[in-house]
Amino acid sequence: MDKVKRFFQHTWHWIFITLCLIIIGISCYLEYQAEVQQQHVDREVSDGKLSDQQLHENGILVLCYHRVVNSRLFADKFALALSNNDQLHEYSMPVSKLRYQIHYLRKHGVRIISMETAIRLIKTDQPLKHKYVVLTFDDVDETLTSNVYPLFKKLGNIPYTVFVVTSNTGRYDNGTRLATWRQLHKVLGNSNVTIGVHTNNMHYLVNNKPVLKYAKNYNQFRKDYQKSEEIIKKKTGHYTPYFAYPYGEGTNREQRYLVDHGMITFSLDNGIVTQRYDLSQPLPRTMVDNHSWKNVIKKWVNTDPSNN
Ligand SMILES: [Zn+2]
Repeated sequence: MDKVKRFFQHTWHWIFITLCLIIIGISCYLEYQAEVQQQHVDREVSDGKLSDQQLHENGILVLCYHRVVNSRLFADKFALALSNNDQLHEYSMPVSKLRYQIHYLRKHGVRIISMETAIRLIKTDQPLKHKYVVLTFDDVDETLTSNVYPLFKKLGNIPYTVFVVTSNTGRYDNGTRLATWRQLHKVLGNSNVTIGVHTNNMHYLVNNKPVLKYAKNYNQFRKDYQKSEEIIKKKTGHYTPYFAYPYGEGTNREQRYLVDHGMITFSLDNGIVTQRYDLSQPLPRTMVDNHSWKNVIKKWVNTDPSNN
C-alpha cells in the first residue's frame, strides 16, 4: 500500500501533465476536424440567386441535402455538438425542418418528382406547366436510413435520389457514420429511390480546391468513375446515369467524358431546369440551407409565373 502511495506521490504531476496533453491533443484534433469540415461547407454553400427570368419560370428545381439529424437521438446530438458552428448546423438539417419544407412545398402546389420523371420532362419539347422539385441527398450517412427514409415513407413515398461516394460506405466521417450497403439496400428497396454516384474516392480538396478541378487528375478521374460504376452495378444490379460533382465542380474534359458515357451530371449552382436545358451541361442544384431556403427556394415557389 505504501509503495502505491509513494508511487503516486512521485508521479502524480507526470500523470497530470499527460492528462493535460491528451486533452489538448483531443481539442486540437476536434478543432482541426471542424476547420476541414468548414472548408467543405464554404465550398458547397452557394450564395447565388435566381435571375428575374428564372424566378418567373415554371420548371424543375433540384435540391441538395446532406445530413438530416433528429435532435431527440443521442447519436445525432453528439454529431451536432462536434460541429460547433452555425453553418454546420444548417448543413446538418433537423428532420423537423425537412418535414416543414416538404409540407411547405406541397402546400404551395409544388410537385415533388423523381429524377427519372424530371429527365423525361426535360426531354419533352413541351413547356413545363408546373413547378417541380427533385430531392437529392449527397454523401449519404446513416441519418438517411434513420431519419429521412421513415419520414418520406410516412409522407406518402416521396421520391428522392441519393449520391453515394462508393468507396466510403460504412466509414466514419466527421462524427457520423456513412450508410453501409446493407442500409442503402433497405432504402433502395423503395422503388421511389434513385441512386447516383458522387465519385468512388475523389471527394476531397487539395489546397482548398476540389481534386476534380485539377486537369492533371483526368486519368485518375476516369479510373475512379469506372470503379464507382462497377461497384454500383455489383451492389444494385445496374449502372447509374447520374453523377453529382463533389463541391459542384469538375473540368470540361471530365464533363465531356461523362456525357460520352451517357451520364447526366449535377453542379451546385442555383437555377431552374426547363425543357430548354442542354443535358450535356451539368444541371443546376441548390444546396438547401437557411439562406437558399429564403432567397432562392421560397422566392421561386411564391412568384407567379404568369406575371412574366
Ligand atoms: Zn458531397
